[in-house]
Amino acid sequence: MNKKDLARFKKLIETERKRVVSQLDSIEEAISDRTANQASGAQGYSNHMADIGSDAMEQEQAFLHASQGSDYLRQLDDALKRIQDGTYGVCEDCGGKIPVKRLEAYLAAELCITCKSRQEKLQRS
Ligand SMILES: [Zn+2]
Repeated sequence: MNKKDLARFKKLIETERKRVVSQLDSIEEAISDRTANQASGAQGYSNHMADIGSDAMEQEQAFLHASQGSDYLRQLDDALKRIQDGTYGVCEDCGGKIPVKRLEAYLAAELCITCKSRQEKLQRS
């Protein structure tokens, strides 16, 4: 990948990283708000079981988003490291080039399409 493309992807990844970080911040805030509310009893003793159920589900969703988000954040950090090393856009498996289009669609891509689909097949079987 040439320097111009690397610089462009660096910017894209940094922007994406900021977006994910602020998203994670708001999820964490929502979780701690809810936990604080529950601790103080503000939401307790409700007769509406459905409400409690959806609350718990919402919280579960928030945790799920948070863990997915932090995984993604780690992948973006790795991608930034690869940009610094000059190995960004190189498939970690076969060493082939990852098409720019694929990287644009998924900034943290580590594998070319061939290796990725092979890996997915392995995971499924
Ligand atoms: Zn590959």
